[in-house]
Amino acid sequence: MLWYQASHGDQCRSRTFPIVCRDCRSHVYFFTCEHGSKVLFEELGPPWPLHTCRVLRMQALRREFQEHLADGTIKIRFARDYTKRVVASEARDRVQKPAPREIQRMDPYEGLRMTEVGVVRERQIDVDLFARLDLPETTVSRAIVGDLALGPVTQITLHTRAVGDEDDLSFTFLAPAAVARDAEYGGVVSVELGGRVIGDVSFWQGLSIDSLT
Ligand SMILES: [Zn+2]
Ligand SMILES: [Zn+2]
Repeated sequence: MLWYQASHGDQCRSRTFPIVCRDCRSHVYFFTCEHGSKVLFEELGPPWPLHTCRVLRMQALRREFQEHLADGTIKIRFARDYTKRVVASEARDRVQKPAPREIQRMDPYEGLRMTEVGVVRERQIDVDLFARLDLPETTVSRAIVGDLALGPVTQITLHTRAVGDEDDLSFTFLAPAAVARDAEYGGVVSVELGGRVIGDVSFWQGLSIDSLT
């Protein structure tokens, strides 16, 4: 089913993230789901007004739908419970700006693979990999670390709380600079993470990163 014909909600892992539009700097909501939706909204809930900032619309939507969206003939349908939850959560946040919740850290273990979608909150380039992993910079440790040791490394912290989520989770991971290139600060990305354990140190490695915004 095409993303604009589907009804979106929990069954397609609908996620909405408050972000700042990188073209016009206004506060908008980026919606994504397993149907392949990548849509920006001005506000949450009916009538789900689209953010029609020109440049972003070009990037966020496939070309053939732009004309329809511009005149509002495509209505994107949401499951009622999803709509209710995000609208209530947003209203709650607005009234009593909650203190930031404790961010829970997920611990990696060797061989664990996860795909996470979230907002890039920290980005540190040219991390000193061997100091970070507390390893001597030897041929042997290079071989153990693998492809991550072949070039510059970027450390990224991803916050995965979407509107309506209970928990605030974050993932800090290391990725080859070439893999991390498209992960811009404040943007929404989908990351394939691999758990690594080397000696006493465990960490997440970013295996691939897909920029969604
Ligand atoms: Zn969907
Ligand atoms: Zn905009």
